[in-house]
Amino acid sequence: AALPGGGSARAFERAKHVVPGGSMRNATWFAPHPPYAARGEGCWIEDLDGRRILDCANNFFSLIHGHAFPPVVEALRDVIGRGTAFGLPTEYETALAEAIRARAPRCEQIRFCNSGTEAVMFAVKAARGFTGRSTIAKIEGAYHGAYDHLEVSLGSGPANWDGPGGDPAAVVYDRGTPPGVANDVVVLPYADPERCAAILDREGPRLAGIVLDTLTSKAGMVPPPQGTLDAIRDACRRHGIMLICDEVIGFRLAYAGAHTIFGLEPDFISLGKIIGGGLPVGAIAGPADRMAVFDHTRGTPAVAHGGTFSANPLTMVAGLVTLDAFDRSAVDRLNRLGDTLRTRIHAGFAAAGIAAQMTGYGSLFRLHLTTAPITDYRSSYPDALTKAAMPAIHLGMLERGILLTPN
Ligand code: PMP
Repeated sequence: AALPGGGSARAFERAKHVVPGGSMRNATWFAPHPPYAARGEGCWIEDLDGRRILDCANNFFSLIHGHAFPPVVEALRDVIGRGTAFGLPTEYETALAEAIRARAPRCEQIRFCNSGTEAVMFAVKAARGFTGRSTIAKIEGAYHGAYDHLEVSLGSGPANWDGPGGDPAAVVYDRGTPPGVANDVVVLPYADPERCAAILDREGPRLAGIVLDTLTSKAGMVPPPQGTLDAIRDACRRHGIMLICDEVIGFRLAYAGAHTIFGLEPDFISLGKIIGGGLPVGAIAGPADRMAVFDHTRGTPAVAHGGTFSANPLTMVAGLVTLDAFDRSAVDRLNRLGDTLRTRIHAGFAAAGIAAQMTGYGSLFRLHLTTAPITDYRSSYPDALTKAAMPAIHLGMLERGILLTPN
């Protein structure tokens, strides 16, 4: 079949016949239809209508050096002619594991998979395998991919988010999830350390793990209060709960990963996005005694892990070259650029008299159409104005040649 001859509208019309909603990913669709990408270079995308777009989203934060980063392209060219995937290990996988461990000592051992969803899912399974317990705690509103248990209370709202005694309710995400999943998930209120501590006190003995993204976008993209971190750390120590840091996005925030910013010592770390250099990737990492749950050489492992394309040489090589170029000075520079961006946007809001704010850390940022304090999922929950305005802002920026994520 011929490729579309140009024009995003035509491409979308064509896609609608073979793709539900005309889009392969919920997150890449917006009304009336997204522009179709034709090619990318650095921070620029050219779409099928020949427009140049400044890409501030970089495939949902997975391309730390932008599109078609020359060292990655060159490395891929070099390796692709020798085969794209084998039912055998390659030395590339060991090299990428070594590179991650060299910068992030907490990632002493690593298993690669193909997406962030898988990475957090396997980290959860690992926590269950290690502790022999089944329940998982997570932050209300936090996004960790599409695994049933981690989707709980991802989309809860004022009508259903209050549980017994005022604790956050465990609300399954959609009709694809068995309702019973909610029984194995405990939901924590990010901005209320005392309530967190009380919940963890009560539920601690049945918890396998606590999943924490220290800069979770849907919970406002604000760092966790010290009290919440203390409550989590304390509960993990007292009850033998595994701390799982989801750094699928956050790994970029510090040379050795986001957990080091907060002095956390996670038992498992889920990685993804940038460590694959723009190719599909995920990883579970942690100290060797924890990662031993995956060790298959001494009988049946506590947790089975595989994946046809896990650790494929293309992803491994792209990740290696990418992390090599994302050295300490590149990390610092990017974080400083983010600070500058937020400062200037705040100044712009003030000068224009716009009641809005930008939260975030380093190169990650999130817009809120309010000046009220943003502390968690509930305080960043969109009101009617925001719900209506966000798509218009997103589209308005795109019309001015700037691509952001829809939220
Ligand atoms: N965890 C976090 C914090 C994420 O932001 C995402 C994706 N944006 C995931 C997990 C899932 O990653 P993937 O889309 O690669 O499955």
